[in-house]
Amino acid sequence: MKLHFYGTSGGGAQPELYCSCRICNYAREHRGPDMRSRSQALLNDALLIEFPVDTMMHCFYGGLDVRKYHHVLITHDHYDHFLHQELVDRPIGATPHHYYTTWGSGTKIREKEEAGKKLDQTGHPRPRMFPVWHEVKYFEPIEIVGHTVIPLVARHVGPELQAAIYIINDGEKNLLWGTDTGYFPDETWDYIENKWDGVLDGVVLDCTLHAVERITPSHMCLPQCVEVIERLEKAGKLKADAVKYVTHISHLTDMTHDELSAEAAKHGIKVAYDGLDVEI
Ligand SMILES: [Zn+2]
Ligand SMILES: [Zn+2]
Ligand SMILES: [Zn+2]
Repeated sequence: MKLHFYGTSGGGAQPELYCSCRICNYAREHRGPDMRSRSQALLNDALLIEFPVDTMMHCFYGGLDVRKYHHVLITHDHYDHFLHQELVDRPIGATPHHYYTTWGSGTKIREKEEAGKKLDQTGHPRPRMFPVWHEVKYFEPIEIVGHTVIPLVARHVGPELQAAIYIINDGEKNLLWGTDTGYFPDETWDYIENKWDGVLDGVVLDCTLHAVERITPSHMCLPQCVEVIERLEKAGKLKADAVKYVTHISHLTDMTHDELSAEAAKHGIKVAYDGLDVEI
């Protein structure tokens, strides 16, 4: 299983535009892995994970060519994961692109489709982008471009959003894509521990926050990622040689990439950065 990280930041990116904190200033000065764009990844050169506000930037500077990837898995409808406004272009020779979200995170793309139909009726042709929306439902496996994807409940903002995290199987390996979420809700633990018969080869977890000032239950900090990993291990759901990464990292960690990497390494965890290739 091959994973490429195009973007590894939280919603505000890093450095945040108007922020003068130590981490943002360090990023401006040193660039490298401390410069983080909004979260997006590519699995097995086939399944694109997220379509954030920085998709355009990943195409301009990160080597991403979205025309090649016709299936996009979305965790939830926040602009750092799903910028549906970008799907209004008038591309020439476009083929349908498929977007997979829960019902709650598909509201705006459904509205866009309805608005397009109305435009057709008034004789004004709608934009020639063809986003095809597919609903995913919690705990119901779905096949997407050679991958079996199981949506799990995330702890993220309100219930209307229906944010999801995913177990993704490519026929050989199992990856848990775990952002954006706080410490997993009980129903997700119950599914992983008692109903799912697989074992994870890799985890990618949300590490937005600082351990001391945890300002929201919607994201995690490094100690919570460790807690998740230890619980997975205890349940026999994580292989001993599993690949463990944190991503969705913000200045709120109050750690530079090197500082966070040093802390994470104590627990066998690595820290993702923009442009990173990982073999799972
Ligand atoms: Zn986010
Ligand atoms: Zn900052
Ligand atoms: Zn979010």
